[in-house]
Amino acid sequence: MSLIVQKYGGTSMGSPDRIREVARRVARFAREGHQLVVVPSAMAGETNRLLALARELHPEPSPRELDVIASTGEQVSIGLLALALQHLGLKAKSYTGWQVPIVTDASYSKARILGIEDRNIREDLAEGTVVIVAGFQGIDDDNNITTLGRGGSDTTGVALAASLKADECQIYTDVDGVYTADPRIVPEARRLDRITFEEMLEAASLGSKVLQIRSVEFAGKYKVKLRVLSSFTDVNSADMGTLITFEEDEDMEQAIISNVAHNRDEAKISVLGVPDRPGIAFAILDPIAKANIDVDMIIQNASSDGMTDFSFTVHRSEYQRAMQILEPGIRKAIGARGVVGDDRIAKVSLVGIGMRTHAGIASKMFGALAAEGINIQMISTSEIKTSVVVDEKYMELAVRVLHRTFDLDKAPTEEKMKP
Ligand code: ADP
Ligand code: ASP
Ligand code: MG
Repeated sequence: MSLIVQKYGGTSMGSPDRIREVARRVARFAREGHQLVVVPSAMAGETNRLLALARELHPEPSPRELDVIASTGEQVSIGLLALALQHLGLKAKSYTGWQVPIVTDASYSKARILGIEDRNIREDLAEGTVVIVAGFQGIDDDNNITTLGRGGSDTTGVALAASLKADECQIYTDVDGVYTADPRIVPEARRLDRITFEEMLEAASLGSKVLQIRSVEFAGKYKVKLRVLSSFTDVNSADMGTLITFEEDEDMEQAIISNVAHNRDEAKISVLGVPDRPGIAFAILDPIAKANIDVDMIIQNASSDGMTDFSFTVHRSEYQRAMQILEPGIRKAIGARGVVGDDRIAKVSLVGIGMRTHAGIASKMFGALAAEGINIQMISTSEIKTSVVVDEKYMELAVRVLHRTFDLDKAPTEEKMKP
């Protein structure tokens, strides 16, 4: 008997029929003798609908009330799934985040899980009950409802698996695993049987929304066995999906590049004509950090005549707020010439642990983009990734070109493998 946490995404929970299918899959595992904790997301489109409703009543809704509203999607899902399971003759009980409780910090809309009080869940499991826990939500120390950021049900699932020391955490979604690129953009993308934890962490942080970044971080920290699978296959199928691995398996066919990730959720801000002296980066970014706005890429140009330009990217939803902080207040304080922004950018990245041992990946990447006439606005690299910012309208083209250039549609061959 194993303890398994299964997370089902929005499309998997998208209609009464889909919920019945989820219940049948859960029932299959329960009847095989496993203990099950199930974490559903809100039904497809529901979180967007709720957030749009809020914005109809207030152009800048209070973050606290937004979380109160957005969290209800998952509450509906847990109740419906409990009913579907009970109808199949199983014992099932639902919990909202605050009922567990899943305790988080107080950052509304992007709260972090601090701890899980899982005693009641353990008792239910011991009695043979399927426990259903709402994804995406928690409660802070002052009893405020919080949400974990878009895609946060993945993190609820993995955090519960870590807390309960589950044998496996299965993320069921609308694709049958992690692919070499988003299959919606690259039809010839290939499913990976395995991906290393480090590559998955990079891909998630670079925008592959198949797993929320924090879920991958949790999996790494607590060594949760994590697998991505489809909820659209036959409930009795033995699909293995994609396993996130922690060891570099010597026997594993390891391509130099694992996948191409993309992200259109960012915006670029440039502070122009900044005096090039100590403390300027701090003067620009400290107020941004104090407003709890995360900064991703940062570029400062070489100065000429003691002046330089300073550019960085933020999440698109925080773009306006960041612009308001800089213009005119910070611009005037540091004596900069101007602040310009662009929220129609996209980031496209190559990810692969083989980059550590192979030179020339970045130049091949830049050459492939140049051949298509795609201008690179920003570049950032780490040991296992190279990212570029391009005009949003070229994003899909860039993803396809890179997928083709690095032969990701073909299984790794000898010369593509590590030496
Ligand atoms: P869920 O609602 O189940 O959480 P998501 O929409 O959040 O599903 O994530 C699954 C989607 O992630 C897929 O439908 C696919 O379009 C997208 N995706 C992006 N990059 C990848 C990738 N490398 N492999 C698989 N899916 C990807
Ligand atoms: N329902 C939330 C969202 O749409 C959480 C999730 O699906 O993981 O972002
Ligand atoms: Mg998701």
